[in-house]
Formats: sequence, C-alpha cells, structure tokens
Amino acid sequence: MILQAQDIVKTYAAADAVSTTVLRGASLCVEPEEFVAIVGPSGAGKSTLLHVLASLDVYDRGSIQALVHGSSYDYSAMNEAAFARYRLDNIGFVYQFHHLLPEFTAIENVMMPALIKGVSQREARRRASALIERVGLIERTDHMPTELSGGEQQRIAIARAVMNSPALLFADEPTGNLDSVNAGLVRDLLRDLQREHNLTCIIATHSSEIAQSATRIIRMVDGRCV
Ligand code: ADP
Repeated sequence: MILQAQDIVKTYAAADAVSTTVLRGASLCVEPEEFVAIVGPSGAGKSTLLHVLASLDVYDRGSIQALVHGSSYDYSAMNEAAFARYRLDNIGFVYQFHHLLPEFTAIENVMMPALIKGVSQREARRRASALIERVGLIERTDHMPTELSGGEQQRIAIARAVMNSPALLFADEPTGNLDSVNAGLVRDLLRDLQREHNLTCIIATHSSEIAQSATRIIRMVDGRCV
C-alpha cells in the first residue's frame, strides 16, 4: 500500500453547538500508481476525506498511514513541521477552483513549491517551464492567472501540483468548474501525467468520464467508503 486510512471520523463543531459528523468511519487502502476515483452524492464527505488524506485537515478518530519511497508516515505521530515536510515532498493537490496565487504569473505559481523546498531559482524555472510546456501552455508562461481561462488556470494548477514530483496526487472535483472541452483536456492530462510520473492519484469527482478512466472507483455514502 501507499496510503491507508482506517475508521476515520471527523466532526465539524459549529458556533451554535450544532455539530456535523462528516466522516463516519471511512476506510480505504490505496496501492502505488493506482488511479482512484471517489464518487458519491454531494455532501457524502468526499472533499473532507481528500483533505484529511492529504494532511490538509485534521480528523478526530481513526488512523492514517502512508508508505512512500520506503519511508513510512503515521499521521497520528507527526507534528506540524513533519507534516509540512511530508506535504512538500510527497503530496500534490488540485482544487476545484485552481487556487493560483493571483499576484504571481503562471510560471511563478508553478515554481513556488520548488522554491519553498529550497530549489534554486534557475532550476525551479527550468522545471516549471518544462511542465508548462507539457500542459500545453508555454505561450502563457508569463501571464497572470486572471489572464487565463478556467481550463488554462486548472492546467497551470496541475503543473504546480506535480512540480515537486509528489508520489500522491489528490484532485477535488478538478473538472467541476469547466466546460466539457476543458474538462476533457484536464481529465486526459491527469491520466497521462499519472502514467508519465508514476503518480498515485486519488480524485473526487462527479465526472463519469474521470471515473471511467480510473483503475478503481470508491463510492462514498454518508461519510463512509462502501
Ligand atoms: P462532498 O465533497 O462529498 O460533497 P464534503 O466533504 O464537501 O462532501 O462535505 C460533507 C459535509 O460536511 C457537508 O454536509 C458539508 O456541509 C459539511 N461541511 C464541510 N465543510 C464544513 C465546515 N467547515 N464546517 C461545517 N460543515 C462542513
């Protein structure tokens, strides 16, 4: 396995004391280089589960373990510094709404994870440029995010997500905000990058096309994987 979650429970506490239990014992085990689609009705907990698996959000009960390139990670035993390092080295995340930094150009956005990791400007720029070319946007290299279409923004966000060669790539409804042509481009890109970079992909999606190109479909209902 590369990632295993057991009986994850997560409750959101609200200010008015009405709490919502979103994950109710969710378990899954993912093997290296799988392309897993997580499907299920809106509100089932897909997005929350992805954030928890990617260590972007906390959970209340259960256990999560990752085994990446021979190193094992037990989420319950890691502090914030360990998580920060773990995410930088191993995790890529693609959001429904790209989350590009608006004050930076396309290439600067893609370079960012490498710069944070301590890679030199020159090397980061070289790698980012190659990735931008790979996602078919070399002529958009120095554009600001607002100068890009929704599909282009998402392709730049995907380039950014794979910049540090993560073992695990998560995507939360990556085509949810796109028209069918751009959704097709993003879907093909994710599938092709998965193969080219030996990524393990875990994608929450309503898209039947993404689900069809997955190696496995996990259905979520009411906070559980069924
Ligand atoms: P899905 O991705 O399957 O649509 P989500 O994980 O986004 O499901 O949400 C599951 C449930 O958790 C929803 O009922 C949603 O309203 C609730 N929820 C999500 N985030 C929060 C939050 N920050 N505070 C309170 N409730 C939340």
